[in-house]
Amino acid sequence: MLNHRCAIGLGGNLDDAVATLIDAAKALSSHPDCQFVAASKLYRSAAIGPEGQPDYANAVLLLNTALDAWALLDVLQQQEQLAGRVRDIRWGARTLDLDILLFNQEAIQDSRLTVPHAELWHRAFVLLPLLDVQSETAWPSQLNIATRLEDPKLSTQIISRWLDPRWDTACNELRLHSRSS
Ligand code: AMP
Repeated sequence: MLNHRCAIGLGGNLDDAVATLIDAAKALSSHPDCQFVAASKLYRSAAIGPEGQPDYANAVLLLNTALDAWALLDVLQQQEQLAGRVRDIRWGARTLDLDILLFNQEAIQDSRLTVPHAELWHRAFVLLPLLDVQSETAWPSQLNIATRLEDPKLSTQIISRWLDPRWDTACNELRLHSRSS
């Protein structure tokens, strides 16, 4: 039963990051234990961490899943590996970063997982796309996200829309496919 609703944060800043995010969104949505619900618009954010990195492409994907949060993390990490991610420098450039932002309304804290994601309330590149799909989540409220985005620590983070028709086409396909299945 696909009885868990989760929000996944997608980010990448190497190679063709938009193509990488599209591949990840398609792979996760077609996983036998997952079902596409909604995708945010695509955003461009300045990299945090070592200087001289390319901008990030960011988005949020909402899924229904039959997996528990730890099994879902396994799937996300497999997907990161498939995209050729190398874990080396903290906050260094990466082909694909997949995070569980929200899992139902659960609070999880153990050696592998912190849910809601520890950076959720600190990153505009997470909250802005989350706002796009917020109406499909039970929480956090639109008001809470919008209020948080007004905080100077977030409102000064450099983030803009990344206009790439490939993202819109892919999201439309995922939407149509999820309705017909
Ligand atoms: P990162 O380098 O940002 O991809 O962090 C990966 C590490 O964060 C992994 O070892 C995960 O076990 C851990 N982690 C903790 N909470 C989360 C979460 N909500 N989503 C994804 N990874 C998480």
